[in-house]
Amino acid sequence: MRLYNNQRRVLVTGGAGFLGSHLCERLLARGHEVLCADNFFTGTRRNIEHLLGDPRFELMRHDVTLPLYVEVDQIYNLACPASPVHYQHDPVQTTKTSVHGAINMLGLAKRVHARILQASTSEVYGDPDVHPQPESYWGKVNPIGVRSCYDEGKRCAETLFFDYHRQHGVDIRVARIFNTYGPRMHPRDGRVVSNFIVQALRGDPITVYGDGLQTRSFCFVDDLVEGLLRFMEAEPGAPGPVNIGNPGEFTVRELAEEVIRLTGSTSRIAFAPLPSDDPMQRRPDVRLARSMFGWEPHIQLQEGLRKTIDYFDGLLSAGELPPAQRSARRSGVVPAASTGGATVHAPLDA
Ligand code: NAD
Ligand code: UDP
Ligand code: UDP
Repeated sequence: MRLYNNQRRVLVTGGAGFLGSHLCERLLARGHEVLCADNFFTGTRRNIEHLLGDPRFELMRHDVTLPLYVEVDQIYNLACPASPVHYQHDPVQTTKTSVHGAINMLGLAKRVHARILQASTSEVYGDPDVHPQPESYWGKVNPIGVRSCYDEGKRCAETLFFDYHRQHGVDIRVARIFNTYGPRMHPRDGRVVSNFIVQALRGDPITVYGDGLQTRSFCFVDDLVEGLLRFMEAEPGAPGPVNIGNPGEFTVRELAEEVIRLTGSTSRIAFAPLPSDDPMQRRPDVRLARSMFGWEPHIQLQEGLRKTIDYFDGLLSAGELPPAQRSARRSGVVPAASTGGATVHAPLDA
């Protein structure tokens, strides 16, 4: 199936999204052929338009809840909205994407004997009792809450991955990704880093949910993608699961203050209610990634924030930030915005 040397045909589902677009770019730079399959729910054509002229890149509008018959050597299964605003917009579809999507992509991997990597999440740990979170921790997840469509969907996908591995010998890799940020997050994505930067650049209030003392560990996208690539290529391989994230832990309030400082913004902090089931702490134990494939993050928060601020500043200068009062927020769910992409399930209003 290999083309020549180490060149491979690689399927990236969710390839027009934030992480997927960076991954497609890196795979092409390594000489692989890339098939990007995306339904443009939260991803945009703009994220990958600079790749469209490359003859080794192919873009396919496809929903992973439907079967897909292609011939590939590797699959990165990233298709799934990741922002709470977006995955809660159509929670039934979110579970279907994780579960039916996993079944279809695993069925495909089984048929063509492809190695398949699942973009799982730190959300499988829920609101953790164990801190930092090692892969051996089974998590504390509410099965019936507003985040469950995502958390339990991803947990079920992990189950399917391991059962296809045990039952059918599928070559799997399960990566548990912790909060990742960087250029190409959508300005109305709704996640904390993009919200705060957009708010700070516009001089709007910085919306801190709850008292802002909940923590997250933020990984810059370049580090994360390097981790996924190394995990996929690691020989001898192992299925994982493996945490990929930056162990630097910050409160949400510290993040707000850092964004205000780095942007030189006049924004003030405005407190808003904490969404239900919002985890109080998050920090990856990354010793396994280090020992299995020599990976650790290198880009610290300040440096990563500067690069991300530059990106959003560019959008602001180009008049491409959303109008005032319409940056993403949890209450009232302002769903995906997709400049350049087509609407599939969400009313896109970019
Ligand atoms: P994103 O929303 O930018 O990208 C998701 C992509 O999947 C989008 O392009 C979207 O259009 C596509 N998609 C959604 N449903 C689909 C479907 N049914 N069929 C085909 N395509 C579909 O989010 P992201 O941050 O790039 O996340 C990518 C993956 O990584 C997701 O699976 C997410 O759960 C996982 N992850 C991300 C983070 C993070 O902090 N960024 C953390 C943990 C896990
Ligand atoms: N599938 C797919 N592409 C393939 C092979 C399978 O999308 O190349 C899907 C198909 O929808 C199937 C699912 O993957 O239902 C699971 O496949 P599997 O072979 O495990 O099960 P079965 O075909 O028996 O349902
Ligand atoms: N958050 C916030 N203000 C925002 C967006 C998010 O205070 O405008 C908080 C949110 O309540 C959570 C943390 O920031 O505690 C991370 O939220 P995000 O949606 O980025 O990801 P999560 O880790 O919750 O999936």
